[in-house]
Amino acid sequence: MDYVSRTDAKAETAIFHQNKMALKYGRRDELTFYILLHEIGHMMLCQNSRMYEERYNAVFEAFNSASITHKVKRVEEELDAWKTGFKLSKRLKLYVNRRRFEQIKSRCVTTYLMWAVDRKIKKDKQNDGSNRT
Ligand SMILES: [Zn+2]
Repeated sequence: MDYVSRTDAKAETAIFHQNKMALKYGRRDELTFYILLHEIGHMMLCQNSRMYEERYNAVFEAFNSASITHKVKRVEEELDAWKTGFKLSKRLKLYVNRRRFEQIKSRCVTTYLMWAVDRKIKKDKQNDGSNRT
């Protein structure tokens, strides 16, 4: 795994075949940490190549990338990466604020869902109550 302190990445990504991941620079530490857990989750899913092939790639290859079946499988992989990252934090006994983690995960998952159904998120609908006390 390579570490690059600065990146121009527009979005976070795990590039398994290059053993790299890119995270946006300058985010709050807590947000970066939860997104890092998610990206590590992707790496862990990819590590088990037989499982990855059966669970995800078989569907990716069988369906056109514009099809809803292909897109929903991508969303499933994203959800699994969040779940895997969270489990890793538990295993390593790393502190995760569950409420914040779920909020950040939900915000990201919403973008995947909107992408899958080819919709844009309305700016005034983004507030999920995270500012409530
Ligand atoms: Zn992801």
